[in-house]
Amino acid sequence: MSKTDPRSAKADRGGPNQPLIIAKDLKKHFPIRSGLFNRQSATVRAVDGVSFDVKKGETLGIVGESGCGKSTTARLLVGLIDLDEGHIVFDGDGLGEDISLKELRRGVQMVFQDSYASLNPRLTIVDSVAFGPKILGLGNPTGRARDLLGRVGLDPNRFADRYPHELSGGQRQRVNIARALAMEPRLVILDEAVSALDKSVEAQVLNLLNDLRREFGLTYVFISHDLNVVRYISDRVLVMYLGEVVEIGPADVIYENQAHPYTASLFAAMPSMDPDNLTEEPPLAGDPPNPIDPPSGCRFHTRCKFAEGVCSAKTPKLSVIGGDDTHQAACHMQEPGSGHSAAIKEAAE
Ligand code: SF4
Repeated sequence: MSKTDPRSAKADRGGPNQPLIIAKDLKKHFPIRSGLFNRQSATVRAVDGVSFDVKKGETLGIVGESGCGKSTTARLLVGLIDLDEGHIVFDGDGLGEDISLKELRRGVQMVFQDSYASLNPRLTIVDSVAFGPKILGLGNPTGRARDLLGRVGLDPNRFADRYPHELSGGQRQRVNIARALAMEPRLVILDEAVSALDKSVEAQVLNLLNDLRREFGLTYVFISHDLNVVRYISDRVLVMYLGEVVEIGPADVIYENQAHPYTASLFAAMPSMDPDNLTEEPPLAGDPPNPIDPPSGCRFHTRCKFAEGVCSAKTPKLSVIGGDDTHQAACHMQEPGSGHSAAIKEAAE
């Protein structure tokens, strides 16, 4: 095993201290074609060198604006799209070396935002849930599906023979969760899975997800634009901007003490329930730059009120914030002696 192999740092391969999944330097660039001969004219750098790990039994929340690359990252983790560069290690086994894509897909399932489009409208609910186990040759797929419907709060005697259009959005999302669990995954990726639900239904599904995590010993990657929801369910939070990771750390730490100006702006933009606490100016101005031609150096420098000369010249690396190496941010002004960390914190309050 080479020194650059992401597994080489882990002595506990396959054991409890081995992260369930390690993403190392993931890159995914999408070509844009145009013209008479459909030639490649540009490249969208959707995911551009993303690294993180997810520990067994934890929930990692991924946040960021639309187009930051969080959903593309999710699709790379589950093998729905191919990597351009990078490594994925699942419980110590390297994808393409120790395990195949098919084996990875068995261990990682995904729940999408659109609960209706995720289900075959011609299949009954029980057949939808039983479909995967049937393909895999697991025993008693229908009995397994009925049992799982009960576990996600849908009485199989009432719901098993219904079709997707006969269910509400919250009920359909419960079916999609049952469908994912039917494959006996270890990691479930939830991509805006509660975003389309009413608030009361959203809370029920979040509580269900927490219960199922404990009951089935699951690990989650939870992607959402809603910071309140991410805080409720996540142990750690990863913040993406324009295809890169800009901050990662324990949820409580990030919610109390954002180190990166982009994270601080996201949190400052959260709607307040206090009518006396009205925002006077937008904390984050303008749209994200075009991912076809991202800004040089720190990609956030075109929108950052702390930007200095170094920011457009040099790309900041993720570095440890404070004494705790679980909290990292990629910002020159957080480097020791810059004197800006207090101002960034103040701006977030
Ligand atoms: Fe702002 Fe510079 Fe930090 Fe980037 S590196 S977030 S531009 S202060």
